[in-house]
Amino acid sequence: MEQVAGDVGSFQVKVRKKARYVNENLCTGCGACAEKCPTMVVDVFNAGLGNRKAIYKYFPQGIPSVFTIDATACRQLGQGKKCGVCAKVCQAGAIDYEQKDTTVELDVGAVVLATGYEVFDPSVIPEYGYDRIANVVTALEFERLLSASGPTAGHLDRPSELALEREIEEAQKELKKLQRQVSQLEEKHGKPSSEIVRQFQSGGLGESEDLRKWALLAQDLSALDGRFQSMTHRKASASAARKLAFIQCVGSRDFRFNRFCSSYCCMHSVKEAMIAHEHDNGVSSSIFCMDLRAVGRGFEEYKLRGGKQANIRYVRGRVAEITEDEAQNPVIWYESTVSRQVVHETFDLVVLATACVPSAGTSDLARLLRLELDENGFFKTDPLAPLNTSRPGVFVCGCAQGPMDIPESVAQASSAAARAAEIVAPARQAVG
Ligand SMILES: Cc1cc2nc3c(=O)[nH]c(=O)nc-3n(C[C@H](O)[C@H](O)[C@H](O)COP(=O)(O)OP(=O)(O)OC[C@H]3O[C@@H](n4cnc5c(N)ncnc54)[C@H](O)[C@@H]3O)c2cc1C
Ligand code: SF4
Ligand code: SF4
Repeated sequence: MEQVAGDVGSFQVKVRKKARYVNENLCTGCGACAEKCPTMVVDVFNAGLGNRKAIYKYFPQGIPSVFTIDATACRQLGQGKKCGVCAKVCQAGAIDYEQKDTTVELDVGAVVLATGYEVFDPSVIPEYGYDRIANVVTALEFERLLSASGPTAGHLDRPSELALEREIEEAQKELKKLQRQVSQLEEKHGKPSSEIVRQFQSGGLGESEDLRKWALLAQDLSALDGRFQSMTHRKASASAARKLAFIQCVGSRDFRFNRFCSSYCCMHSVKEAMIAHEHDNGVSSSIFCMDLRAVGRGFEEYKLRGGKQANIRYVRGRVAEITEDEAQNPVIWYESTVSRQVVHETFDLVVLATACVPSAGTSDLARLLRLELDENGFFKTDPLAPLNTSRPGVFVCGCAQGPMDIPESVAQASSAAARAAEIVAPARQAVG
């Protein structure tokens, strides 16, 4: 949304529609373009844990089910190089490199804001080691690891092992390159590299720059091969994460960051621990919390079922620090309120239940629409009419007005649509 004029019953709104460089009326969603695109990009939807192509669908179930080119990553659009592969393979002729952003002008009676939330960035809590300890992840990242359409197809590989896999891939490419260069030199000189390296190390190689470079290349190859062997050995002995810890209220109920309770994270931790156990019955989970807020119909029973059937242990205690051992296992330090002692425990993976915070554009949107925000930065609503913003005709639903779970967001969305219809329907009847 770029511009808003008018008032309740008659707003004139300008919305920018970003170019997707794919004609959405022609694209059949077949995916041939993405299959052949040579450019790999970090996948934001998979929380940076996997890669996607420069031409992509944001997520598999996205509607409309058509592709988009990420212009900055694309060789042709963003990097000034020649490519055009997607246009060549698209049988529907849907690729349009000339497409531009357009402005859509709308005459509307009411506006509903449903811009949601973002997750709190836990790297501002240094004692939890997120960004420093590979096997400390956010709950959102954990959801992607658990998902069948995620980067590990639902297998609970630890991020440290995923990084190792990437290192092995890179090392393999470099090994091939070095092996090719060394073989060419061996063929050219008719000698094995071992002989040259021996002469180089004993100082008997003479002045030849060419032979010196060969010896150094052969030494690099041998060092990289050693590193490659040790990495593949480590990878072979790696196992999936089975001992999980969930830390609640990360950035919530914490006066340094957000005073409020994010309301849904206690239940999503129980859910994630249950799903992890369904995937692999050997999984056990410990949920560290000040108290577990199971507020909702059937929620307390669900929590208890997790304890009885899914190997979940609920630990009352605020985690003070996370450290890491030599095997990249996170170690949790906390005060047990039962034994009144500071204790530590090692896990395979730690999941941080991060707070729900206002989405990035909230204050800009509030300025544009002349709306008030509440003390936490969400759209302010009327306590007696909870979908009303501070401006008549503009409604807000879901996490744009504060943390809430999906059922509540959906119920609010229906109510907001009904409130908007109350404004629009009489005008329609008058026209009809
Ligand atoms: C790890 C995790 C697990 C969860 N699991 C559960 C669960 O199992 N069950 C449950 O009930 N709840 C769960 N929740 C909570 C759930 O995510 C929220 O309740 C729900 O997403 C809120 O829906 P929403 O539509 O208000 O916001 P969102 O889902 O955030 O949707 C808002 C949309 O608006 C878009 N947007 C933002 N700004 C603009 C703009 N300016 N213009 C256009 N579009 C914009 C965003 O890109 C986004 O697509 C979980 C939350 C987390 C973090
Ligand atoms: S033109 Fe861009 S999107 Fe298309 S195949 Fe090449 S890099 Fe990928
Ligand atoms: S829902 Fe649970 S984890 Fe989330 S802020 Fe509230 S108490 Fe903390």
